[in-house]
Amino acid sequence: MALIEVRALKKTFVHMGRQLDVLRGIDIDIDQGEVVAFVGPSGAGKSTFLHCIGTLDLPSSGSIRLAGDELTGLSGAKLASIRNKTIGFVFQFHHLLPEFNALENVMMPGLIQGRTRREMEEPAQKLLHEVGLAARITHRPGELSGGEQQRVALARALVLSPKLLLADEPTGNLDTATSGSMHELFFQMNKTRGTTIIVVTHNLVFAESMPRIVAMRDGAIEKDTRTTPREEVLSSGAPHVGPVSTPEADAAPS
Ligand code: ADP
Ligand code: MG
Repeated sequence: MALIEVRALKKTFVHMGRQLDVLRGIDIDIDQGEVVAFVGPSGAGKSTFLHCIGTLDLPSSGSIRLAGDELTGLSGAKLASIRNKTIGFVFQFHHLLPEFNALENVMMPGLIQGRTRREMEEPAQKLLHEVGLAARITHRPGELSGGEQQRVALARALVLSPKLLLADEPTGNLDTATSGSMHELFFQMNKTRGTTIIVVTHNLVFAESMPRIVAMRDGAIEKDTRTTPREEVLSSGAPHVGPVSTPEADAAPS
């Protein structure tokens, strides 16, 4: 089932009296459980697209259905509630709160929603463990490396179990080795939690390891490539035991 259905999405900015067509009509479906890399030159509109999907920005026209809700036309309050319930974000810069430790930062989305520390402590600790930071939970951001800070940001994005994780160049600021292990974590989280992940990346090695790559240019989708048969992606929660499936085999009636 499609988690996201985007139709004829356009976004225009007016800057110093000039109209900038930043998204020029995007059509795409993304299924529950997919991992999709968005690539393309700087200025292609990748961040703008992510912000529209993530309800952080309003499109100029077109429609976005997210988990069955049509986003265009909803009130700010309704959008905020969908955002809090359904979407986690990881940005290039972690935006952690410097005066709180890793555990508190990860619990924060829940605390802001009025949940108690007691309720949030267990899921936050579990996530910090999953991202390999069990030994760093009392460290403040300033006492963590760049890669560790991004892991905390990933744990924070997932603590309320969103259906969708949006990541905008999450490793743009990290060295190659650190960014490699961060990318592994995205795959791991997709497998263990079934989270749908859209990640904008400049790292082509990572992008090419992804089951689906969408290339954007000048506000449009230039190419949408699936490297893994869709059925296999959808059932990736279970270990694959049979022979590697081919598109022909997957096309057989089920
Ligand atoms: P990408 O993430 O692919 O590098 P962006 O979505 O950030 O691209 O930006 C696409 C284009 O939209 C750029 O040319 C950028 O200058 C322009 N743009 C983005 N945000 C605004 C804004 N708030 N006002 C005017 N122009 C903007
Ligand atoms: Mg960008």
